[in-house]
Amino acid sequence: MPRLKSSAPLEKQAEFAKPLKVGFVSLGCPKNLVDSEVMMGMLAQSGAELTPSAHEADVIVVNTCSFIETAQRESIETILEMARHKSNGRTRKLVVAGCLVERFRDEIRKNFPEVDAVVGTGELERILPAVGLKQREPLDSPFRILGSRAEGDARAAKGRFSRESWDGAISDLPNYLYDETTPRILTTPGYTAYVKIAEGCDHPCSFCIIPQLRGKFRSRRFESVVAEAERLACGGVREITLIGQDTTCYGEDLGLQDGLALLLEKLAGIEGLRWIRFLYAYPNKITSRLLETIASHHKICSYIDVPLQHASPSVLKRMARGGGSGIFLRSLEKMRRAIPGVTLRTSFVVGFPGETEKEFEELCEFVREAQFDWLGTFAYSDQKGAGAFALPGKLSAREIESRRKHLMQIQRRISKKKKKALVGREFDLLLLGPSEESELLLEGRTSMHAPEIDGKVFINDVPEGLDPTPGEFYRCQITDAYDYDLVAKII
Ligand code: SF4
Repeated sequence: MPRLKSSAPLEKQAEFAKPLKVGFVSLGCPKNLVDSEVMMGMLAQSGAELTPSAHEADVIVVNTCSFIETAQRESIETILEMARHKSNGRTRKLVVAGCLVERFRDEIRKNFPEVDAVVGTGELERILPAVGLKQREPLDSPFRILGSRAEGDARAAKGRFSRESWDGAISDLPNYLYDETTPRILTTPGYTAYVKIAEGCDHPCSFCIIPQLRGKFRSRRFESVVAEAERLACGGVREITLIGQDTTCYGEDLGLQDGLALLLEKLAGIEGLRWIRFLYAYPNKITSRLLETIASHHKICSYIDVPLQHASPSVLKRMARGGGSGIFLRSLEKMRRAIPGVTLRTSFVVGFPGETEKEFEELCEFVREAQFDWLGTFAYSDQKGAGAFALPGKLSAREIESRRKHLMQIQRRISKKKKKALVGREFDLLLLGPSEESELLLEGRTSMHAPEIDGKVFINDVPEGLDPTPGEFYRCQITDAYDYDLVAKII
């Protein structure tokens, strides 16, 4: 428990004899959420009490996202909103953490006097002194002395990770990785957890600044991931979702070949786990071995999330990604052949600089042919420091939005057809609890639904005498379908 030094006034000592109450706001993606959970774990281990109420917090931490402009805006609005608790409430300190710090460290300090401390993505342990607690000894860790990928080294030599053009960012790249010994507090329901298996990214995508924000690709040790998954399973977690900027590169820096497949195989042997999935596959990293592994273990969800970003070869070339509709269609066909019934998810960037109507139509045509189960879209967002920033042919926000909506309309029709085809079929369902839409309904997910991102399954019929429990699995039959959501009865 934190105590004031004895020289402090008595009333202050009394105040500080209570645990420091810390409120946490986590923005952005599940990768950022895991960072928040790790920081919360460190705080709790050091005696702080976590509170969900900003009104009660002595310190508020905002873990920010800086992926695209809208995310930056949301981060800044949240910082300003939380700063009001310093002037109107009991909050004494405001700490800003995460990607926005990596991007605008000095600017935050200069322009937001309400912010007392900043913590970058590579210095999570600094959350302790930032809130006023004693910093843990830095982990003298063999876990951090990792190898690197030749591709990443080559890109580093060409300046891929340089932040020189970013005013206010420090030049040091993050290299932090948590491990199985790092305290962590899950904020997801007790039956499900994300496990970050790698951090950073070595890819050259010209619209993306994640490599500069998060550093070079680095994998957690194989045994560390397995140990964490075992501990989670012992604690009641039934579903784990492996995340990283690119999970399909897992282990390459550790000298592993088909590292993700090996890891999945090992995790599939953990008693207690029921569903294991991974997100964010890089298209040309999905190997036959990986597909065989998914197909041959019932605990590994037949679900592949492969963000393709575009389908026109000329746009993909400008994105520095490569590929195109022909090669992608063959690759999707291979996945469907190897894993019958596989659920395929992707996402696209719409309105990339210079995207002509013809190139956009190529993307639409590809979406019609590919028949994805789930599809997300991002409106292109200009990022200083990203390769695409200097490209000519920027489209207006209005044009980008109109294209994005058009693409989603195409997908809506595909999704509706695919969901209707599921009516009458039976699936295992993870019950989440009462529905937010109506108190008369329950909500759940099948293995076709990743946490938070895919549609919902509403349950409107339960056998008499059954009292369904959130976090338990039930057999269900799909009875109706909408554009994205399903209706089911427990059988
Ligand atoms: S693979 Fe993903 S995270 Fe990495 S540079 Fe490309 S878009 Fe960014």
